[in-house]
Amino acid sequence: MIERNVKSLLEEIPDKNPFGEKVTLVAAIKLQDTDSINRAINAGITDVGDNHVQEFKDKYDFITGNPRRHFIGHLQTNKVKYLIGKVDLYHSVDRLNLAEELSKRSANAGVTSEILLQVNIGNEQTKGGFECGQAEEAYRIVKELPALKIKGLMAMLPFIDDNKELTKLAMKMRSLYDKLKANDADFEYLSMGMSGDWKLCIDAGSNMIRLGTCIFGVRNYGK
Ligand SMILES: *Cc1c(COP(=O)(O)O)cnc(C)c1O
Repeated sequence: MIERNVKSLLEEIPDKNPFGEKVTLVAAIKLQDTDSINRAINAGITDVGDNHVQEFKDKYDFITGNPRRHFIGHLQTNKVKYLIGKVDLYHSVDRLNLAEELSKRSANAGVTSEILLQVNIGNEQTKGGFECGQAEEAYRIVKELPALKIKGLMAMLPFIDDNKELTKLAMKMRSLYDKLKANDADFEYLSMGMSGDWKLCIDAGSNMIRLGTCIFGVRNYGK
């Protein structure tokens, strides 16, 4: 089933978004066992993203095929040290002290970490991220930190059924992304889109989607 899901997704996802950019599929692998993850990689997955540091560490050596590693979940500052040098892209940099810790630890290790700034586009209490109106200021502060490279923005849309409203929010994210990208050659990724909303996100200009359920089926939180 996983193999079939990956193959049909790779066929269904357009090669390019309406802005002519390549769309990257990141498999959201939280709560999946390494066998399932490796099957997805064998079927064509090139990028994997974890949510929890402990899971990331436990699975790290057992994932085969050398995929690009993403960290997509809420990250506690005191756990940053376990990830430095092992994550290709941190999606969820959602507060300044996390950016500072990532920069400090990266500098100490002699590496530059690539990050996305998470924006709370729906202004939801339950979600992390900079408020839309504060994202530009946060960008300017984080841009000054020595061992980080800001590669773009990440957002999670609200879990609502109103596609018109979702498209509006996704387009707002794209505008913010374009505004910052205009003066920053490092900008490359707008990470937006999950199993329920990835199509409308790509149509609105996302170029990186994070899919779990579409690939692995409904997650078993009871495990
Ligand atoms: C779990 C998760 C996803 C994938 O969610 P699905 O709805 O299963 O596709 C994407 N992004 C983040 C940050 C996640 O935690």
